[in-house]
Amino acid sequence: MNQEEILNLFKESQALLTGHFKLTSGRHSDVYYEKFTLLKNPKVCTIICKAMADNFRDTGAVTAVGPTTGGIIIAYEVARYLGIESIYAEPGETGRIFKRGFSLDKGQKVIIVDDVLTTGRSLMEVIELVNGYGADIVGVGVLLDRSGGRVKIDYPFYPLATVAADSWEPSECPLCARGEPLTQRGSRKF
Ligand SMILES: [Zn+2]
Repeated sequence: MNQEEILNLFKESQALLTGHFKLTSGRHSDVYYEKFTLLKNPKVCTIICKAMADNFRDTGAVTAVGPTTGGIIIAYEVARYLGIESIYAEPGETGRIFKRGFSLDKGQKVIIVDDVLTTGRSLMEVIELVNGYGADIVGVGVLLDRSGGRVKIDYPFYPLATVAADSWEPSECPLCARGEPLTQRGSRKF
């Protein structure tokens, strides 16, 4: 799949939203990728994860690792295509940790996958965790690199699509300056 096809899938799934958003990083943006709109559809998810898996066919990886939450689904689906196992990394007191008896061996070949890369923080945390076990990271993949390639990953890196979306500190946000209310999304209580 090429970049245009991936971005079209985001658009068709209405996973690409416009408005005034607060990102997980705390920065504001006029676009938001609601990846779960895409991940909730197994048909779409399977197409994307197959494209990701194709990048890792010859790596010899035996385990796919993803960070919670979207990374669980992606690691599982990519692992299914590759015929390998998948585990996930959860937030610890600092960084990421394995729970549920998950572990890696020294030298074990591992791929790390996630959905959307913005600051790269969750990927970096998983890389640190995997390195802590002495495992061998043979590739890193994301559905979408929205840092525009700014975030550098020190391993073979395969984003399916790369976009440079503007984001600002709240104090420098032009939408805040115009008094536009933040777009509400996500969890709602009834
Ligand atoms: Zn703003």
